[in-house]
Amino acid sequence: MSEQTATVIDGKAFAAGLRERVGGAVTTLKSEHNLTPGLAVVLVGEDPASQVYVRNKNKQTLEAGMNSWEHRMPATASEDEVLAMVRQLNDDPAVHGILVQLPLPDQIDSEKVINTINPDKDVDGFHVINAGRLATGQDSLVPCTPVGCVLLAKDQLGSLSGLEAVVVGRSNIVGKPVAQLLLQEHCTVTICHSRTRDLGEVCRRADILIAAVGRPEMVTGDWVKPGACVIDVGINRIEGEGGKTRLVGDVDYASAAKVAGSITPVPGGVGPMTIACLLRSTVLAACAQAGVTAPDI
Ligand code: NDP
Repeated sequence: MSEQTATVIDGKAFAAGLRERVGGAVTTLKSEHNLTPGLAVVLVGEDPASQVYVRNKNKQTLEAGMNSWEHRMPATASEDEVLAMVRQLNDDPAVHGILVQLPLPDQIDSEKVINTINPDKDVDGFHVINAGRLATGQDSLVPCTPVGCVLLAKDQLGSLSGLEAVVVGRSNIVGKPVAQLLLQEHCTVTICHSRTRDLGEVCRRADILIAAVGRPEMVTGDWVKPGACVIDVGINRIEGEGGKTRLVGDVDYASAAKVAGSITPVPGGVGPMTIACLLRSTVLAACAQAGVTAPDI
């Protein structure tokens, strides 16, 4: 049996470096411009996974030297109450980034809430105006996980210009924005989804293969072009040996790592990049709002 040949892309280390650069930029913004970037997170309800995410966001925002506010609302909060909270944060000049943790309880229209955030403070990049800005190549706040994917691919490959990129998944939060970013990097981009015919055949064309499907280990080594860069966005909890659960990606790591040139592991690949990119977006948003030239981070 052949051995693993792929370079393991260490997202954890890359994210730590990015957080350090963000922290450095924050120090400079404070001393030279009296500007402290601030992120406000709104959490509605008690979803355990969301609570963990919000806690980590809060901790890492503070560690980077920024202001961080957590606004917790009960699961019974009405849509009007959540919209009022968003408007209050829109009006607060100390808040440069607003993130409403998804999913929201059923009585609340998520789209309406997201589209009520001031687009210039929409650090998740989900507002329809930011999606439009991204699609038309204008400066925009961009969803964090897709930015993380592209930063890792560029770190690995250098210029992505002219490369064949295949994205499996077309969600608004991962698949579509990552495809837009790859297009901006001058890749030739194919977007696949549940109706794609001969998915394996399409994937085998990819110099960069991005899997954002939500199906455990669906992309196997025989779908990977030899030497390709494989970025696995998937986070799936499956039952392992002895009834214990473990995290796996959308890529079958063991078989893909024997064919790929480089590959992100799960955990430790794309996952840690999301919050690091959120901090970066908050700094960029603060600079834009204050009319300060953004640092190169
Ligand atoms: P969605 O469920 O919103 O989208 C999944 C996409 O995959 C859809 O476009 C769907 O196609 C496509 N798909 C589903 N089944 C197949 C199939 N059999 N063949 C081809 N395409 C298929 O998921 P998300 O984009 O939100 O998330 C994707 C994965 O990334 C999940 O595992 C999620 O946990 C993870 N994730 C990780 C993040 C991080 O690292 N921080 C952040 C966000 C997500 P169709 O449109 O036709 O239904």
